[in-house]
Amino acid sequence: MCSLLAVRTGEALSHASVEAKPLVVILMGPPGAGKGTHAGPLSHELALPHISTGDLFRENIRNQTPLGLKAKEFIDQGKLVPDDLVLDMLFNRISKDDCKQGYLLDGFPRTVAQAQAFEQRLGSSSTLLALHFAVEDEALVERITGRLSCKQCSRPHHLKFDPPKAPGQCDSCGGPLYQRDDDREEVLRKRLEVYHTQTEPLIAHFSKKEGLLLEVDSIGSKEEVFHRVLETLDASH
Ligand SMILES: [Zn+2]
Repeated sequence: MCSLLAVRTGEALSHASVEAKPLVVILMGPPGAGKGTHAGPLSHELALPHISTGDLFRENIRNQTPLGLKAKEFIDQGKLVPDDLVLDMLFNRISKDDCKQGYLLDGFPRTVAQAQAFEQRLGSSSTLLALHFAVEDEALVERITGRLSCKQCSRPHHLKFDPPKAPGQCDSCGGPLYQRDDDREEVLRKRLEVYHTQTEPLIAHFSKKEGLLLEVDSIGSKEEVFHRVLETLDASH
């Protein structure tokens, strides 16, 4: 008994029963596919907190929590933070009251091993969904490598979808436009390669369980894609 529509309208609170399970929505997809764009609005719509493991990391390190200090040791040595430590931080966060109805998970798991460890620790206490924002590489390359930002006012432009009136100049303030390092084609292609080798196997992993993996075609306007996300989530329950 878990209705997303009920969660969205807040009815879940009044209908909460002992068997109501928290809803965990894992956001996944290649870099630039729209996770970041839709996480905030989706969190608002579902009334569930958005947990970005990247932010969680930085927060723990900034506040010098015991886990943050441990993580920093690895980072300072140029090593990857071990999965166990990431999971400790995550479970620490999701034990908080605001996660009782569930949460959106962003940036984790990135590998099948992480997913297995996460699922094991979670047990059957939660309803798990993986929301996959699907976009072909070439569409991502077009979308991302065309982005330009203003050095003065940071207004975004796009060579194809929102071209500046004067080449290289911001429409708002006339400031110089530049391309962020992350948006350069060779950088993006590297990140896509990492995604395909490390993270894409998660799709096969999640599709083994009936109803767990939800695919959303992430091509289209922000509004179109968000509408699809809500429809897909509603249809899943
Ligand atoms: Zn500007």
